[in-house]
Amino acid sequence: MTVKLVKTQEVQILLDKLSGLDQQAGDARLKAIVRRIVGDLFATIEDFNISDDEVWQALNFAARGSAEFGLWAAGLGLERFLDIRADAADAAAGLTGGTPRTIEGPLYVAGAPESVGYARMDDGSEEGKVDTLILHGQVRDVNGAPIEGAKVEIWHANSLGNYSYFDTTQSEFNLRRTIFTDADGRYVTRTTLPVGYACPEGGSTETILKNIGRHGNRPAHVHYFVSAENKRHLTTQINIDGDPYLHDDFAYATRDELVPPVKRLTGGALAERCSVSGEHVEIQFDIMLHAASSKQEEHASARPRAAG
Ligand code: FE
Repeated sequence: MTVKLVKTQEVQILLDKLSGLDQQAGDARLKAIVRRIVGDLFATIEDFNISDDEVWQALNFAARGSAEFGLWAAGLGLERFLDIRADAADAAAGLTGGTPRTIEGPLYVAGAPESVGYARMDDGSEEGKVDTLILHGQVRDVNGAPIEGAKVEIWHANSLGNYSYFDTTQSEFNLRRTIFTDADGRYVTRTTLPVGYACPEGGSTETILKNIGRHGNRPAHVHYFVSAENKRHLTTQINIDGDPYLHDDFAYATRDELVPPVKRLTGGALAERCSVSGEHVEIQFDIMLHAASSKQEEHASARPRAAG
């Protein structure tokens, strides 16, 4: 079936009216956006011969599943698309050399404990059950100059793939820290090696993905917000190399530049500094920030976020 009804005068007038185009009041750009989205929806219903029952079922599904909209944004590629747009804008502006961005995901929590240079991120509750990770690096500008006082916010899942705050069995701000870089632009953290996780079983995201033949798994990863005065805010992640879902992320966040080598070591200077004895894992992740061209660029997007 091809779209015919939507093109009729009757439906076109309906679209004009429902998007407020016949009213003086209201925002012109918003009217145009509403008209486009609703018109595309009407065309989809007509083109795929979607039944009344299916329309109401879909609305009800979205209403009931709305608590997971953050995961829908990841799984349906919306977050990835926003990154593709931002990357294209950078390329058009000739911006190269910074650490690549990748999606934020819905599990950031503001207010994590702050420190300078070093932090231990885990509360010790998984010690011995999971590899200890020493994660460190240097924050520099695109010319290679170290940035002192850069704000490095790190958050990741525990060995069950769960995040503190959302998982209320974990201590407050477990595996969430804000580290300001030292005089050499360096940050060091002792934490636990995260594992990958999946969308909640039976949730709306998993239901959609399953019905279109996909899975809802993410490879193990660590989230970063990195910011500094006059530098562009960076939202990114690193993936843990070797994860079976490394290149099969349901959220499309994997980028080759964001898979640093994983070293398995015993002892060493960093281990000593972090009071780690025995075998552990070390990952170095250096970050390069672009100069900000406006104050707004120094901050993360206005996405609503949880605060602990
Ligand atoms: Fe995550």
